[in-house]
Amino acid sequence: MAVFRFLEDYELLNSSETYKPIDLTPRQCIFCKRNETQGATFNTKAHLIPEFLGKHSLINPNECDDCNQKFARFETDLAAFVSPYLTFSKIKNKKGKVPASHSRRTEKGEKTKILPGDGKNLVHINFGKNVQDYIVDEDAKTATIVFRQQPYVPLNVYKSFVKIGISVLPENYLRHYDETCEWLLSDEYFSFPFFRVFQTFLLTNYVARPTASVFVAKQIAEGESEYPEMTLLLRAANLVFQIFLPFSSVNAEHHKHGRNLEFTVYPSPILDRLPVRSQIDNVDLSSPEKSKQEVQLTLSYGAIERGLQG
Ligand SMILES: [Zn+2]
Repeated sequence: MAVFRFLEDYELLNSSETYKPIDLTPRQCIFCKRNETQGATFNTKAHLIPEFLGKHSLINPNECDDCNQKFARFETDLAAFVSPYLTFSKIKNKKGKVPASHSRRTEKGEKTKILPGDGKNLVHINFGKNVQDYIVDEDAKTATIVFRQQPYVPLNVYKSFVKIGISVLPENYLRHYDETCEWLLSDEYFSFPFFRVFQTFLLTNYVARPTASVFVAKQIAEGESEYPEMTLLLRAANLVFQIFLPFSSVNAEHHKHGRNLEFTVYPSPILDRLPVRSQIDNVDLSSPEKSKQEVQLTLSYGAIERGLQG
């Protein structure tokens, strides 16, 4: 099965569960490379994983205030991108509240609202007059909910993921990603098929605390194939995101030989308990233009109760 393929190609390198900040003296930012003597300041607590993805206390001491400010702008887009899913997952933000999510607005200005349930209740969905947003398939025992994400810039969502990946890299691998850090901080835009996320909304599996893990390719090149050196697996509530870290200097070396780049996708649906199976969505995040997407979430009846309780 596909999981064996992933574990054939990649192995776990580091994770937020075992994360230890890199000890740099003088204190230095791993993104812009400036240190304290070069004017970098470190007054803001930089979270390893954005707090809206779930409560945790992991801080990256090597992210300077200027970079932190820049990344905060990308994270606004990530928050918009994930907000409807987080409501379904009943994840609590740092104020201890589950964010409500508003979705489709019709011409008359009616909205579908997704509100977190309280106590024993599950998520309440108020469709207003948008009943067409709720499709029940009685034969397949599924309910499909259509909602629109808040507007977001896809490229910034991707950059947020990449930043998390770089943050959990061990020190001896950081130098492979100098170009990646430069690109993270630059406003220069170019499209690249690499800029995508493989995402899964798990129906029966939930993590209370978000985790970020980086896996390293056991072999970068094999015959005609080439594998991205590093891939990030980010889990938050019912969500699993996988991205490949772009611009590794190790890949750049192999790329000269014209091999075909291959993405080995982590088989997240196996995390669900049978017979429920979620699916992996492959989302293009290469656009720098603000966009609104319509998202369909299909839940099977049994899974709704088992999967959405926080
Ligand atoms: Zn910096």
